[in-house]
Amino acid sequence: MPFTQLQTELNERAAQGLLRSRRTVDTPQSPHIVVDGKPYLAFCSNDYLGLANHPQLIAALQQGAQQWGVGAGAAHLVSGHFAPHHRLEQQLADFVGKPAALQFSTGYMANLGVVQALVGKADTVFADKLNHASLNDAMLLSRAQVKRYRHGDMEQLAELLVKTTCGRRLIITDAVFSMDGDIALLPELLSLCEQYDAWLLVDDAHGFGVLGEQGRGSLSHFGIASQRIIYMATLGKAAGVSGAFVAAEQVVIDTLINHARSYVYTTATPPALSVALSESLRLIAQGDDKRAHLQNLIAQLCNGLSDLPWQLMPSHTAIQPLLIGDNQQTLQLSEGLRERGICVAAIRPPTVPQGTARLRITLSAAHSAEDVDQLIKALHEHAR
Ligand SMILES: *Cc1c(COP(=O)(O)O)cnc(C)c1O
Repeated sequence: MPFTQLQTELNERAAQGLLRSRRTVDTPQSPHIVVDGKPYLAFCSNDYLGLANHPQLIAALQQGAQQWGVGAGAAHLVSGHFAPHHRLEQQLADFVGKPAALQFSTGYMANLGVVQALVGKADTVFADKLNHASLNDAMLLSRAQVKRYRHGDMEQLAELLVKTTCGRRLIITDAVFSMDGDIALLPELLSLCEQYDAWLLVDDAHGFGVLGEQGRGSLSHFGIASQRIIYMATLGKAAGVSGAFVAAEQVVIDTLINHARSYVYTTATPPALSVALSESLRLIAQGDDKRAHLQNLIAQLCNGLSDLPWQLMPSHTAIQPLLIGDNQQTLQLSEGLRERGICVAAIRPPTVPQGTARLRITLSAAHSAEDVDQLIKALHEHAR
């Protein structure tokens, strides 16, 4: 059996401090979790508004299951598209200010589907080097020409656009970079799109629910709108449930319904999830106090960590990475915090570039100021 080779590769990964494994959590998603019988204070979820275990969403999901059962039973184009899916899509489109929206099972699938449906061999995709893995995989799968530009480098992007004269042009970017927490220069990207007749796919996995008026996301944050923008956001992070959606012009959505393979060839998500998501959307829209609390926590963390031997990366969002550099040292720091009862994820290559291993601290409106204080104290103790 050719398993020894697999084992050797895993051993090599382990020697480099890169082996990944999972920990089983025995309590619901929250800042306070129990792992292997031990309580921890956690700073590693993307549940930015604390909705993943919200009583109103639990009630909505229960009611949704009572009315609609637990399974969709078929793909959307067959007999799996139910009234709750349809209602949610209209609500999502209205919320982000687009004519139409389409629900996908996951954000990963949404990105694969959109890029593959909109561009092909004759076309070109322009991508920020720090984009999420799902966007990277999407552009490879699409078989379009790929041009990657240095993170946030609009000059290099403009040069690449000038040189590309035929086919469709699609710029793809994280809105809030998932491992860095900084926000893409969306107004600049949009004006490049106008100048060079390109489309802009914005992946707002970490902005939807958190940024902008009533949590409408990064387009609202910048006050920009354009038919050229294809907006994608996930529903398993701030929205607290599961899934994703794409919002765009009707003709784009109709194209996705016909050509996005990760939409067409998969069973629809349970309609009860869409019932819960409609309720989540209501809570997001009413969540100004949650977002204000989250902003306070971010400021508290940045102030509290300004004098550590490691630098917080330049982020104003709920993603606050502490740059360590070395893989083993990052693991040791994460372990040291764990011994003090605190969970923070160690992020290493290939998720981030070589030499930029980091602790990815994420804050949630469900944290208290005391929780954040505890993390600040533990990091200072470890630094000594
Ligand atoms: C999480 C994430 C995704 C994937 O979304 P899922 O719903 O978890 O599959 C896509 N893009 C970015 C930027 C993300 O952070």
